[in-house]
Amino acid sequence: MQVKHLNKAYGNKQVLKDVSVEFPAGQTTVLIGPSGSGKSTILRSLNLLVTPDNGTFDFNDHHVDFSQPISRKEMLEIRKDTGMVFQEYNLFPNKTVLGNVIEGPTQVLKQDKATAIKNAHEWLKKVGLDDKANAYPNELSGGQAQRVAIARAMAMEPEYLLLDEPTSALDPELELSVLKVLLALAKEQQSMVIVTHNMMFAQKVADKIVFVEDGEILYDGEAQAFFDRE
Ligand code: ADP
Ligand code: ADP
Repeated sequence: MQVKHLNKAYGNKQVLKDVSVEFPAGQTTVLIGPSGSGKSTILRSLNLLVTPDNGTFDFNDHHVDFSQPISRKEMLEIRKDTGMVFQEYNLFPNKTVLGNVIEGPTQVLKQDKATAIKNAHEWLKKVGLDDKANAYPNELSGGQAQRVAIARAMAMEPEYLLLDEPTSALDPELELSVLKVLLALAKEQQSMVIVTHNMMFAQKVADKIVFVEDGEILYDGEAQAFFDRE
């Protein structure tokens, strides 16, 4: 997927300044940079949670021109193909772990319940939490909740998994459990875009680094080369 010439202002504050960047399929791209630099705004543009003032977005058969209205159909298709995981998990508190994971597949993808449950158990196994299938979110640690959030997003079969500060609410030990899950996904060439301000985390998971500062991209290239120059 590719964005070109994105501009976004909130009031008179220009948050994105002519941002153009590609997020290669099959790779993990990590957006890093100071707080408030525009990383989340770029990420959320890919999921159409944020609408830039202008610029374009190319993804699969979609060509979105942000200066034009986006049809509801196109928006839903793009949202379905770009699963988002937030910093604060956003699990449904009154549903079990399994209930959280099957919600999207049954409601949005219209999978039959037996299929959704079978897939959900597979994803919960992959994130190491199948034994928690019947637990409620308040019985989970932060790291477990975040892994459920990843399983829930992946059960929707997104082409791209987008993660906004997936570990910033976690202590280092729990962060490692989330890192392991993302490394396993990366190994299967799941396309991912991750926002983080944790450099260690970025170094471990990134194929590509995009460094954002004050609404502009200051580095866009191979992760290895980025960390070698430090
Ligand atoms: P980062 O992810 O790099 O921390 P963000 O993309 O969240 O940065 O935010 C970039 C800038 O845009 C910040 O100054 C932030 O306060 C501002 N901003 C983000 N969302 C809004 C909003 N809905 N209304 C006004 N300002 C916003
Ligand atoms: P994040 O943790 O992803 O950086 P923030 O804490 O910056 O998110 O923002 C949380 C929410 O508040 C987002 O929806 C963002 O768009 C909005 N927001 C951020 N900054 C501002 C702002 N200055 N004015 C209004 N809304 C904002």
